[in-house]
Amino acid sequence: MSIVLQAPPYVRAISPYIPGKPITELARQMGIPVDKIVKLASNENPLGMSPKARKAVEVALIGVNGGIERYPDQFDLIAAIAERHGVSQEQVVLGNGSNDVLDLAARVFLAPGRSAVFSKHAFAVYPLATMSAGAECIAAPAKNYGHDPAAMLAAIRPDTHVVWIANPNNPTGNFLPQAEVRAFIGKIPAHVAVVLDEAYTDYLAPADRADTVAWIKDFPNLIVTRTFSKIYGLAGLRVGYGVGRAEVIDLLNRVRQPFNLNNLALAGALAALDDHEFLARSYESNRSGMEQIVAGLKRLGLEHIPSHGNFVTFEVADAGAVNGKLLKQGVIVRPIGGYGMPNHLRVTIGLEAENRHFLEALAKSL
Ligand SMILES: *Cc1c(COP(=O)(O)O)cnc(C)c1O
Repeated sequence: MSIVLQAPPYVRAISPYIPGKPITELARQMGIPVDKIVKLASNENPLGMSPKARKAVEVALIGVNGGIERYPDQFDLIAAIAERHGVSQEQVVLGNGSNDVLDLAARVFLAPGRSAVFSKHAFAVYPLATMSAGAECIAAPAKNYGHDPAAMLAAIRPDTHVVWIANPNNPTGNFLPQAEVRAFIGKIPAHVAVVLDEAYTDYLAPADRADTVAWIKDFPNLIVTRTFSKIYGLAGLRVGYGVGRAEVIDLLNRVRQPFNLNNLALAGALAALDDHEFLARSYESNRSGMEQIVAGLKRLGLEHIPSHGNFVTFEVADAGAVNGKLLKQGVIVRPIGGYGMPNHLRVTIGLEAENRHFLEALAKSL
């Protein structure tokens, strides 16, 4: 019998994650020079990384009391994040990307015979993390492509142990007002862990933001996750974190690899956390780029889903064909058929020239 059949059925049932196409891959496939390719497929920061983070990473190569030859020490980054949120250091867990934290939560609270609830069209990692832990996925119906708290509450079963919430959500960009999220969490049974994934929170308009970490006082089952991959511009370093009750974070730490973040990632994230100038510049670049792309989509007569992130999802008649034509012109966006949206494409907000390149190529692809 094949060794493949020895893997548990729930592992064999997983559909692999499909990442945005790397620039180098398109260059190989189409013979397009790398510098003629625009990648707007993975919600990366078009401004690059914070200059302060870059300097810190360079310094960390050599280090103060040793560099890369030493095992990493998470203390400083945990302390800085705890201070930022006004929580104790025992309430913070670091992840190799926030994806890692999502996986830790799944491994702690899920198992075969249990289930997790998320919204239809929600982030692809929720089913991956759920299935990796052997648990069953329950995708609740969406409302206008966004989370519908009533539908998600109705989907919770006696065996449900995790509810995944993305706010704003990827790939739809939908945002649920904070008061609604809070009321929603208040209705989730206390024995169900709630993971509130706020990867795009720094792109929210100031009026839409809330101190969700403060809600942990009221909801012992809440874990809030954040990432350095988006506005902080450190997607390739892989840093994210979760905040929750100390006793919950203690559980996550038990299943965490002891050295899950490398020295360069720890140093870069620590420096990025305080680079307010870079964050403000990134926010403003995204705001104006969003206006530019939304106006362009409207000019082309295309429907889009209003987005609160650094990307926007729009509808076309034949997403596969349009995507193919964009690729031939050196433009990489993200098809999201795997999210149950076969007629939509998601484009990340880029720099002004990149957005223009995308819109011109899109006009020729329709
Ligand atoms: C990008 C993203 C993340 C962050 O992933 P990292 O592992 O931190 O790079 C988490 N959640 C959502 C919804 C995302 O879109």
